[in-house]
Amino acid sequence: HADAALSEAKARGRNNVRFYSPQLTAQASARLALETELRQAVDQDQLVLHFQPKFDLASGDLVGAEALMRWNHPARGMVSPVQFIPVAEETGLIVPMGAWALHQACRAAVTWNQRPAARQVKVAVNLSARQFATGQLVETVCEALSSTGCLPQWLELEITESLLIDKRSNVREDLETLAALGVTIALDDFGTGYSALSYLTHFPVHTLKIDRSFVKDLPGDRQSGELVKAIVSLGRSLNMELVAEGVETDEQSRLLAAIGCHMAQGFLLGRPVPQDQFEALLG
Ligand code: C2E
Ligand code: MG
Ligand code: MG
Ligand code: MG
Repeated sequence: HADAALSEAKARGRNNVRFYSPQLTAQASARLALETELRQAVDQDQLVLHFQPKFDLASGDLVGAEALMRWNHPARGMVSPVQFIPVAEETGLIVPMGAWALHQACRAAVTWNQRPAARQVKVAVNLSARQFATGQLVETVCEALSSTGCLPQWLELEITESLLIDKRSNVREDLETLAALGVTIALDDFGTGYSALSYLTHFPVHTLKIDRSFVKDLPGDRQSGELVKAIVSLGRSLNMELVAEGVETDEQSRLLAAIGCHMAQGFLLGRPVPQDQFEALLG
């Protein structure tokens, strides 16, 4: 069986080489062009942060925002991070880009929280594994905080489960250091990764962000409902904050509130918007 599969793959491979190589070359050169442009984007201030509001489900209060990167490309317009973050990660460009995002987000949090009689809001910034791999992340975060005057409790860092599996690196030590400073850690896209649940207690995780794929089919899909209930119950029993991602309908929002999810983010409550528009939401 294995031999048959191997010879089939070989045969397919042989045919594919001739057929696909011009296409691969085209793909590779498009990639290279994107990489070159992305380098310029960093130098020429073409990156911007948009902010998506996050609400407390019980009180309805706006409690924070997630900073989401956009590339304001001179010809292509606003480019989605889904298109450029993977390239930024492969090339390592995510390291300066991520440092830039941390700085801008901290600066924004200071603006929001310094308004007279302002309720405290947090800003959440997404981190990539490459940023931990530099060994400079703690320093970069400290620099962003101190140069902007941002308090650590105004900053949340979003990481994904895959980062916790990486045994070689200093991830755990860095997260402990950051948590000790007063920065909070959120596990993004929770439930879609491959990490063991025991990681939740071995790392300083404060917040679980329930992935949109579980929220999407609420309230109709019973299995999604049971999964979300289980995640909420797990998080609550570990004293964690729960945020539902991708809330698009009133029914979803009501159901999530009823089962004890603390916070929600989604198109129903607010799309990611430029900083001035987010500030208008703060009132
Ligand atoms: P994420 O961190 O899970 O961010 C949530 C994504 O879901 C955002 O997409 C947001 O616009 C989208 N979203 C929010 N509410 C809804 C909803 O109700 N319905 C639907 N369909 N979508 C919703 P976006 O902005 O395109 O970002 C995609 C991903 O790119 C992010 O996923 C994150 O992994 C990555 N990313 C964005 N900014 C950064 C950054 O500064 N650094 C790093 N490392 N990654 C980033
Ligand atoms: Mg996120
Ligand atoms: Mg997410
Ligand atoms: Mg996501």
